[in-house]
Amino acid sequence: MSEPAVVARLTEDLTAGMKTGDLEDFYRDLHRHPELSFQEHRTAARLAGRLRAAGYEVTEGAARTGVVGVLANGDGPVVWLRADMDALPVREATGLDHASTVDGVMHACGHDLHVTWLVGAAEALAGARETWSGTLVVVGQPAEEDGGGAGAMVAAGVHERFPRPDVVFGQHVAPGLAGFTSHTSGLVMSASDDIDVVVHGVGGHGSRPESTVDPVVTAAYVVTRLQSVISREVAAKEAAVLTVGQFHAGTKNNVIPAEARLALNLRTQSTQTRERLLAAVRRVVEGECLAAGCPVPPEVTVLPGYPNTVNDTALDREIAAVHREVLGAETVLDFGPVMGSEDFSLLAPQGVPYDYWFVTSTPADVWEAAPGEDLPGKLDNVPSNHSPLFAPDLSVLVPGVRTLVSAALSRLT
Ligand code: ZN
Ligand code: ZN
Repeated sequence: MSEPAVVARLTEDLTAGMKTGDLEDFYRDLHRHPELSFQEHRTAARLAGRLRAAGYEVTEGAARTGVVGVLANGDGPVVWLRADMDALPVREATGLDHASTVDGVMHACGHDLHVTWLVGAAEALAGARETWSGTLVVVGQPAEEDGGGAGAMVAAGVHERFPRPDVVFGQHVAPGLAGFTSHTSGLVMSASDDIDVVVHGVGGHGSRPESTVDPVVTAAYVVTRLQSVISREVAAKEAAVLTVGQFHAGTKNNVIPAEARLALNLRTQSTQTRERLLAAVRRVVEGECLAAGCPVPPEVTVLPGYPNTVNDTALDREIAAVHREVLGAETVLDFGPVMGSEDFSLLAPQGVPYDYWFVTSTPADVWEAAPGEDLPGKLDNVPSNHSPLFAPDLSVLVPGVRTLVSAALSRLT
C-alpha cells in the first residue's frame, strides 16, 4: 500500500491528459445502444476494441459476453477492476439527445458509465506503464441485473484462466448530488434471494367451492401472513425486506383454478437472518397449505441469489483515504449499507479482499429543484437507478476514472 499523497499525485499525472471528450462520446454511444443481460455483444466488442488498442491481451466470450483484458507489467500484485455492462427492460423517458435508440431497453442503472470509467482507467494505466509494476486485469461483466453474470464468469473459469486477483475493485453510480464518493467498511450491500412458490389446490366450478380447495384464497393468506414475518421475526436493529412481486392464478371468473404461483424477493444483511427468513417463508407457505387442506404439499424453490457484499474493512479504509486525497476530503462520505444487491463480490475468490464504493451523479440543477429539506428528503425525489428518468451528470466521468486509477495504483506502486 502506497502513501495516499503519492498515489494522488501519480493519479493526477496519469489522468491529466485524458481525452475527456472522446470518453464522453464513447459513453453516449453505449447509452444509445443498450443491451440486455447476456446480450451485451456490441458493448463487449466496443470495450474489447479499446482495451486491445491500449495494449491489453483481450479475451472475449468469457461467460457468453464477458470481456477480460490483461496487462502484465512486471512483478507485483494482481489487481482486478470490474464494470458490469448490461442494460434494463425500461423505456427511457429522459428526452436526452443521446437517449436509447432501442425501444423498451435503457441503461437505467448506469452500467454504460461503469464501462466508460473502466475504459478511461485502463487506458490511463496502460499509458504510464513505467510508473507502476504488477498485473492489471480489467473485467467487463455481463448480466449483473438478471442472470448472475459474475457467477457465470467464475463458473467459466476466470480465476483459473487469468491471473488470480490479490484484490478486486468495483464502483457503482448512485443518486445524490454529483461529485461524492461513498465508502462503507464491512457490509455495503444486502443479499438477495428470489423464491418461487406454487400452491396446489383442487380446481373446480366457481359455483361449487365445497368441491374444491381454492388456491387463490390459500395464496392470499400466504401473502398476508408473510407481511408479519419481517415485523415479528426480525430484531429491530436488523434490516430485511420481503416482497411478493408476482401473484398468478386462474383463467376465468367462474373457474376455481388448481394452483396459484407467487414470486418473492428477500433482502437480508446477515447469514443468520437470511436462513431464519428462508425457513419462515417455507413454514408459512406449508402451514397455510396444511390449514387449507391442499391435497399436495406446496413447492418452495429458492433460486440462486446474490450474497452480501462485505468490503474488507482495512482495504476500504485505505482506499477511502486515497480517494480523500485524490478528490478532496469533503467529497468522501459513508452512506452506510443499502438494501440493493450485487454479484460483484463473487469475482473475488474466497478470502481475497475487495472494495466496492458508490459515486453520486445527480446533476446539480436536478438536485436543487428536487423537493425536500435535507439530503434523505431530496434523495427520495431525484431519479434513482432503474428509473426511466435516470441520467447521470457527465461531470462525474473524470472523477470516476480517478477513483479506479488511484485504487489500482495504491496496490501497484
Ligand atoms: Zn441495477
Ligand atoms: Zn447496477
